[in-house]
Amino acid sequence: MVAPMRPSSGRATPRGEYRLWKRNTDSMTQTLPDYAVEVRGLTKYYKTKERLSAKPALDDVNLAIPRGSLFGLLGPNGAGKSTLINILAGLVIKTSGTAKVWGIDIDVDARNARAAIGVVPQELNIDPFFTPRQLLNLQAGLYAVPRKEREVMEVLRALRLEDKAEAYARTLSGGMRRRLLVAKALVHRPPVLVLDEPTAGVDVELRRQLWDYVVQLNRQGVTVLLTTHYLEEAEELCDYIAIINHGRLVAHDEKRALLRRLDAKTVHIALTAEISSLPEALGPYSAELTAPDCITVHYPPSRARISDILDAVRGAGLEIKDLSTEETDLEDIFLQLTGNAVAAGGKASDAA
Ligand code: ADP
Ligand code: MG
Repeated sequence: MVAPMRPSSGRATPRGEYRLWKRNTDSMTQTLPDYAVEVRGLTKYYKTKERLSAKPALDDVNLAIPRGSLFGLLGPNGAGKSTLINILAGLVIKTSGTAKVWGIDIDVDARNARAAIGVVPQELNIDPFFTPRQLLNLQAGLYAVPRKEREVMEVLRALRLEDKAEAYARTLSGGMRRRLLVAKALVHRPPVLVLDEPTAGVDVELRRQLWDYVVQLNRQGVTVLLTTHYLEEAEELCDYIAIINHGRLVAHDEKRALLRRLDAKTVHIALTAEISSLPEALGPYSAELTAPDCITVHYPPSRARISDILDAVRGAGLEIKDLSTEETDLEDIFLQLTGNAVAAGGKASDAA
């Protein structure tokens, strides 16, 4: 795969509005912001039938996305993920609070804040009568990127769409359209790339490819914010995770710290014989008989040792046939924080 682009190239002499942005990116490179995105007290009430909805779509959200991170915003449908992203992208008007993209306040300098971000929307909204090359040129034009600085073919190549450059968008497969939207988000070379549920309804192969590319971009210095309701995805890819539910942020931490926070492990102990009650020695632990020949114990690994648990079982004269342990994963954290098993999606619904 062709090497991905750098976030903002500092080449040639730009004109007009682009210069504004360019000047900004130049100052950006001198004083890089600590946070690629910074949101304070962000609140959104949508207007429905000329009235503000009773419930906010975003409720006093504070979020700080470190520059260079691969940040996952996790939450069930309707949590407010797209609302947040669309506010950052200048597509939805916030009710109150502040938001900065690449250090630029969206109220103070909307144009440059918008130029610092590229958004891959949730919906595959592509005009079917344009070719990928035309679409990217249009997009570059919208951002006032001068013609000779446009790198339309490079971007198409990076997303392996170069042989489709002149094809009508309507003839592209779903996967190609998704990649075209990524290309569109990148054509003005924003330092912040946002992907809104990019893998919803996408097959495994494309998902892999997309993630490989996103990880590459991130390694090149692009800050990536992605929303997903697939827990495994965030767990695998992201180094920071925030969890949102009903418009409220319920967690916001480094992934590892988030996992650590839930100090709980589970061990399933299969026995060679059936028993009717738990050994008394397991009293101090949270144990249950999940089958006549299986004991399940929940314990905090920082304070209890598995060897003590096994000793307690053996001490009661029971023979152990098999053992399996469960690590904490994001699903546990998510369920604990939101108390919302059905909406958790991903693994939760698979397991149901
Ligand atoms: P998510 O992207 O996490 O699924 P959204 O941000 O799309 O969530 O939606 C958050 C809430 O705001 C939901 O209750 C949704 O119904 C509502 N909402 C989203 N867009 C609009 C809109 N344009 N008008 C009215 N309500 C909306
Ligand atoms: Mg959404």
